[in-house]
Amino acid sequence: MSIFAPTQLVTTATAAIAARTAGGRMFNFNAGPSVLPEEIIHQIQQDIWDWNGTGYGILEHSHRAKAYEAMLHETFENVRKVGSIPANYKIIFMTGGSSSQNFIVPTNLLPKGGHADYIETDFWSSRSIEDANQAGYHAHTAWSGKSEKYVRLPEASEIQYSANPGYVHFTSNNTIFGTQWKTEPTTPAGVPLVCDACSDIFSKPVDFSKYGVVYASAQKNLGVTGATIVIVREDLAERAAADVPRMLQYRTMIKEESRPNTPPHFAIYSVNLMAKWILANGGVDVMAKRNAEKAQIIYDALDAAVPFTRPHAVKQARSLMNITFRLPTPELEEKFMAEGVQHGFDGMRGHRVTGGMRVSAYNAFPREGCVAVAAYIKDFAAKNG
Ligand SMILES: *Cc1c(COP(=O)(O)O)cnc(C)c1O
Repeated sequence: MSIFAPTQLVTTATAAIAARTAGGRMFNFNAGPSVLPEEIIHQIQQDIWDWNGTGYGILEHSHRAKAYEAMLHETFENVRKVGSIPANYKIIFMTGGSSSQNFIVPTNLLPKGGHADYIETDFWSSRSIEDANQAGYHAHTAWSGKSEKYVRLPEASEIQYSANPGYVHFTSNNTIFGTQWKTEPTTPAGVPLVCDACSDIFSKPVDFSKYGVVYASAQKNLGVTGATIVIVREDLAERAAADVPRMLQYRTMIKEESRPNTPPHFAIYSVNLMAKWILANGGVDVMAKRNAEKAQIIYDALDAAVPFTRPHAVKQARSLMNITFRLPTPELEEKFMAEGVQHGFDGMRGHRVTGGMRVSAYNAFPREGCVAVAAYIKDFAAKNG
């Protein structure tokens, strides 16, 4: 027996044997790391063995080698193409996740002790505020949905900006509570908009010219974990003080093509595959249309079963990426998730701060999975409601 043979089959895998989906796998509703397109998984399997006919795998390649360099350049181009990112914006890859951008953004954009405005719409934006303060900056909360349990987003008239903030920060999709901005907030004239787009980047067309900085970890809508993509307007990358550590400066990353040291090269490679996949599938316009349809299938099932089902977000603010809801009791929720596994669904457990369920339907999540879970919701409500 191979030393790498699994010692124990986990219960989900056992159940999956009984509930194989069309491709022989579970429907994966995880919020991140999350589902990848099957074509990409097959490609990765090949490339780990022998990448592009080089005779050895992508994991074993040097980030300085010609083959890798060509792929890196292709990744920048493909990402630019997917997002229609204007020429005066630079694309970089960093490590540390979106979480590290909480202190990297102010470090690059603000003078020491400077202040910026934040719109608090979820656990993640709350973290961004805390981390900016901890790093020695002043994060002014321009609006908070905390007292209403983050069920909605603000009207423009409710947002109260401070005088001359260094930037305005918002989170385009609120992964944990399940709300999503339809269009970005308007900032005071000349103030750059910073966006944590971790869980909805490239899920729909976005006019990047309205933004100063957009960042997203790859593992939700754009590949595997390890790389954070940062899209930064050229002039903003020059703002960091000279004494900011080299590895935290956007300008270092730009100058060194995201490899001043060893980059997360497998994650970057995965972003290239995802970018190519989005382009081959018609681009962000098609993604937006598909994502809207997919989410609607699930929301329709939830709405039809109210009050047994309790969708978290108000209708106008609903996320197309992360659909959050509860059932009448925690026991019913556990039963819903446990029986769901038997039907081939995994990853439906909500974040620990919300409880209940969350089903995530990113770009790569197949429509059949949405249809299947909608039928399951209907059936479960009929039997248990
Ligand atoms: C997942 C997530 C984060 C944290 O990302 P990490 O890569 O784990 O640091 C931050 N913001 C949003 C909106 C997220 O969905």
